[in-house]
Amino acid sequence: MKKYTRILTVVLAAILLLALYACGGKTTNKTVKPGVLTMATNAEFPPYEFHEGDTITGIDAEIAAAIADKLGLKLEISDMDFDSIIAAIQSGKADVGLAGMTVTDERKQNVDFSTSYATGVQVIIVKEDSPIASVDDLFSGGYTVGVQQSTTGDLYTTWDLEDEGLATINRYNKGADAVQALVTDKVDCVVIDNEPAKAYVAANPGLVILDTEYIEEQYAIAYSKNNTELGKAVDTALQELIKDGTVQKILDKYIKV
Ligand code: GLN
Repeated sequence: MKKYTRILTVVLAAILLLALYACGGKTTNKTVKPGVLTMATNAEFPPYEFHEGDTITGIDAEIAAAIADKLGLKLEISDMDFDSIIAAIQSGKADVGLAGMTVTDERKQNVDFSTSYATGVQVIIVKEDSPIASVDDLFSGGYTVGVQQSTTGDLYTTWDLEDEGLATINRYNKGADAVQALVTDKVDCVVIDNEPAKAYVAANPGLVILDTEYIEEQYAIAYSKNNTELGKAVDTALQELIKDGTVQKILDKYIKV
């Protein structure tokens, strides 16, 4: 009998410890929705995020799922326009933003960023017979450039080209719409991130990506400046996933060199 009491005590102690651990987890990770990590994204950015039937999948979705898992949270993805993501985080509608989002000083004024988990490159897509053969040609003036509204492609070409009177910038809600404008000769080129660029060029015969790069940048996770506790937990989880090779494995699954 004594033996059973001892076993029972051990079992009860284990249950108590587990319960304490679970409660502790909940209090440290205060999220927009209890028990849920809400990720804001724009699922028009393959292979980082895109629709596959009814679900949103891709590199960012998988990294966010692995982070949520580590934090004991369920992942929910909220799809929106790219330029609504930072506002959604600031207004408490989303916990994190993963959207192949480049770290910039301007964005840093509104959100905090994690460690970088990938490198992005702004490239130039042209038609095969285009007179634009390099970044320098683009700067030689007079061209019309298509970009996705509020992306770094938009920001940099606005500063470098439009503000200097060197080009006209046409802004589109989706990268795909900018590429369509190129196909139908409404713009002379599109400045956009390299990975979606590859997907667009593969889907549209007659388009090519120039060898010269516009600029290289870093992708990171955005989160609120008002919940540094969660931000820290997300960043720590991400760093662990980078260290143990999970992030590289996810990148390699979607990006074939
Ligand atoms: N990397 C670009 C940016 O952060 C584009 C991201 C996107 O279109 N999803 O502005």
